[in-house]
Amino acid sequence: MSAADDITNKIEAFKVGGADYITKPFHIEEVLARIQNQLAMIEAQQTICQLNAQLEGRVKERTKQLETANSQLSKLAFRDPLTWLPNRALLMQRLQEALNQRQINPDNQFAVLYLDCDRFKPVNDSLGHQAGDELLIAISERLNSVLRQEDCLSRLGGDEFVILLGKLEDSRYATQVADRIINSFALPFRLRGKDIFISFSIGIVLECSDYWDPEEVLRDADTAMYQAKALGKDQYQIFEPSMYQAVCHRLQLETDLRQAIQRQELALYYQPIVELATGNIVGVEALIRWHHPTQGLIPPDRFIPIAEETGFILKLGHWALREACGHLSYWQDQGIVGSSFSVSVNVSACQFAQPDFVKQLDEILAETHLDPQCLKLEITETVIMQDTPSVADNISNLQERSIQLSIDDFGTGYSSLSYLHSFSVENLKIDRSFINRLHKKKNNFGLVTAIVQIGKAMKMNLIAEGIETSEQLAHLKFLGCQFGQGYLFSKPLPSQEMITLLATTLPKHWETSEPS
Ligand code: C2E
Ligand code: MG
Ligand code: MG
Repeated sequence: MSAADDITNKIEAFKVGGADYITKPFHIEEVLARIQNQLAMIEAQQTICQLNAQLEGRVKERTKQLETANSQLSKLAFRDPLTWLPNRALLMQRLQEALNQRQINPDNQFAVLYLDCDRFKPVNDSLGHQAGDELLIAISERLNSVLRQEDCLSRLGGDEFVILLGKLEDSRYATQVADRIINSFALPFRLRGKDIFISFSIGIVLECSDYWDPEEVLRDADTAMYQAKALGKDQYQIFEPSMYQAVCHRLQLETDLRQAIQRQELALYYQPIVELATGNIVGVEALIRWHHPTQGLIPPDRFIPIAEETGFILKLGHWALREACGHLSYWQDQGIVGSSFSVSVNVSACQFAQPDFVKQLDEILAETHLDPQCLKLEITETVIMQDTPSVADNISNLQERSIQLSIDDFGTGYSSLSYLHSFSVENLKIDRSFINRLHKKKNNFGLVTAIVQIGKAMKMNLIAEGIETSEQLAHLKFLGCQFGQGYLFSKPLPSQEMITLLATTLPKHWETSEPS
């Protein structure tokens, strides 16, 4: 408080630390008001300080929480949450490290084992996913028990595991591990009161010196694993470059096949079905052929399995049915064959199991104006053994339309006789492998006699496949087999050549005497 009320004095007073400045003469109200203001300011400052301290505390706490969450997240990012084994991301890191180590020193060898359970899905399907999870944990523990500390077992997901064997001094160690795994899984797992047997198909990449990219190592181990599966499962295969070429080749074939219909590379060939007693051609079997633009003629055995695996068989099978019905209808219109002449078309299991299969047939028959009685469908025993509602429905719907069924390759599948009772199947085709053996031992007709008797007892027509010699023909006639097809009569022919054959009289050498 001062009598000096010059502005420079006031500034001076504030400079030396004065909080306020009152000039004389003073009024007590003013002094009190100014003191009040000062006190309010001090209180406000204290509150700000407290708030700041609280805020800092909270920030520290949150930072700590974030750090914990982050470290948990990064663990999760590299671990499989079920088994807590390293996951794909961590495996890739380890593989990259192994590749780097090998570059530094070529003696740092490693090997990779790619494992896939052979029958895991049925466990999940029958015991439920929780039991499946428990089993996966038990599997990972058993796998770990055959490994060294420095080996890295990881789970890629599902029932796929990968083992990285580092610091390999002897490459034989990799196959020893594979053997140990196979042996240790010979014992069952006990789950929900049941014994569960698990086996593995294992692909091994042993020679890692040509690799730069971990993805490529894994890809090749996977390829070798598929080879092990294809060769019958429960075994290991060591990767060879030819396996990769085969995969690429197959993939190319798969792609080409998808375009084959559109590019008109597919054709149906026809093989005559002959009534053995008269030598008359009573029908034909349609057999698909693929004229590949670079690989030439590819037989169905090489591309039908690919079509079945990829699902393309549905389109391909539909095409074959339409083509065969169209051809026969045309031959009948042209008077080349009579109205009882039939065409047999092979139908794959998944094609037959389609709920709208009969509807598709109805449309094809309507479009091609073919009498349903002239169409026969060749299915394998597997189809009937599927025993699903749509298969059963399809069979009875076919019966209503008088479309006949033939069991193809009879004797090579389940040969379960019960289904012959349950379903109405008109024709039984005896597989070529039985006819093959007919000539080898004279008067030893082997299983053919039994099959012919089954067919007769069931009032089915018997068709022998693959008759190549007149001796076989004579035996079959003697046994009472009514129909047959095979190279002795004719190889499968393109439709134009088939027309020519149908127009000519049959060769004399078909007629043979009965065997003594
Ligand atoms: P499949 O239905 O059992 O056909 C008989 C196979 O035996 C045909 O082989 C035929 O050419 C061959 N064959 C006939 N007579 C003789 C003989 O005297 N000696 C020998 N060694 N072989 C004979 P192809 O044409 O290679 O067909 C193989 C298989 O491919 C067929 O067996 C059938 O299962 C399948 N297939 C053919 N066309 C189709 C089709 O359009 N759809 C489906 N799903 N499968 C088809
Ligand atoms: Mg057939
Ligand atoms: Mg057959």
